[in-house]
Amino acid sequence: MLIENAELEGGVHAAIRIIGETITAIGALSPRPGEPVIDAAGGLVLPGLHDHHIHVASLAAALASVACGPPEVTTAAEFAARLRAPGTGWLRATGYHESVAGRLDADLLDEMVPDRPVRVQHRSGRMWFLNSAALDALLAENAPPPGLERSGGRYTGRLFDADAWLQRALRGTPPSFAAVGARLARAGVTGLTDMTPANDAVIARHFAAEHASGALPQRIVLAGTPGLTPADMAGGMTLGAAKLHLHEAELPAFEAAVAFVSGAHATGRPAAIHCATEVELVFALAAIAEAGAAPGDRIEHASVAPDSAVGEIARLGLAVVTQPHFIAERGDTYRAEVAPALHPILYRLRAFRNAGVTLAAGSDAPFGGTDPWTAMQAATSRQTRAGAPLGAAEALTPEAALDLYLCAPRNLAMRRRVEAGAPADLCLLDRPWSRARMALGSVQVRATVIGGRVVHDARPGNRPVHDARPVNRPRRHETR
Ligand SMILES: [Zn+2]
Repeated sequence: MLIENAELEGGVHAAIRIIGETITAIGALSPRPGEPVIDAAGGLVLPGLHDHHIHVASLAAALASVACGPPEVTTAAEFAARLRAPGTGWLRATGYHESVAGRLDADLLDEMVPDRPVRVQHRSGRMWFLNSAALDALLAENAPPPGLERSGGRYTGRLFDADAWLQRALRGTPPSFAAVGARLARAGVTGLTDMTPANDAVIARHFAAEHASGALPQRIVLAGTPGLTPADMAGGMTLGAAKLHLHEAELPAFEAAVAFVSGAHATGRPAAIHCATEVELVFALAAIAEAGAAPGDRIEHASVAPDSAVGEIARLGLAVVTQPHFIAERGDTYRAEVAPALHPILYRLRAFRNAGVTLAAGSDAPFGGTDPWTAMQAATSRQTRAGAPLGAAEALTPEAALDLYLCAPRNLAMRRRVEAGAPADLCLLDRPWSRARMALGSVQVRATVIGGRVVHDARPGNRPVHDARPVNRPRRHETR
């Protein structure tokens, strides 16, 4: 494949030749007979972006959720239309009330959706309604719980007070990752690091299967439990950090945190610690200092970071993986609810760069939006949705904001480039950098290539897609 008329970083124009999964040449190249050609039309070609902190399974569940009660949905026809949303795998609907279409059961739901498992939650939160495909999927490997209603020798599809059972049973049939893969591809994201602390060998197999099927075409780094091993990483996935999730209200014993970090290092893995409050950060830094820092150790979020902590992170040589878009998405709430003295030290960027700390970014989706371009915009503007400034001194240049997504995923201090010999993971923008840098949030990705394969194509003729639809986000407290 030849990508013609491409702008490379630095402003040079050239053609890029891809053979197999690799960039083989860059320069004044002309197409060979039969070689597919993409005309970049002067747009910038970047290494594909990497989302350094995401929760794919939760995001897939959120994307497959539809609201199906008042006020959005009030009639049976509207309800049926919502359930017929395109897609495969589990459909999860929430907020249902009898005023919409009466008391639901499997027969009623089968009429609307016969071909994929559906579960509808009553807005009381105490009842789920399942169609037959859902009953089949759940009962294939799980004994029915007492709360599963029976009538005349068969299940009605009504499930009462059985959330724990449902969660366990659903682990056997995790959601399709196709919607996540497509959404990230549209934004130019060619790789991701899943930072879910509970990631284990079971979910690793699901990742591998979704990757092999093409549903999740991105390159995958899987962080998670200390028990994950390289042997769990099928199909080109790589093993990431062991993840420790801290909650200020119930911190583990200090010795246990030190042991977690040492234990990760002993198995050749870095440690990653979730730090959404100042107390969590101070605790994490003390634990890492006690265990001894190793290359690749990282702090997730560093939501509240006083200068002393920034200095200690630099001294220990840790990387920080931040969410610049939280300033935009949640900044107005922070301004209202977080003590003003902390406003200048929320989700810092420039302070870390100035201290020489390696800084990368990830969406934290579904807790944050998936679009790295609006996140880069927030990193340069440091403005809330309402337009108020928040920690303006932490603003980055557009070039530094872009760097947050171009770090090598397992060596964040290394910056990836479009060069001969590099993997053909590319992101083709609809404009040159001189225009992109002026309005990062409005950049459209014209094409995305992973391993030499086009996974997103919005070139003229195909209509560009913009992800205006917000993710139906779970709520989180604290400063993230
Ligand atoms: Zn997270």
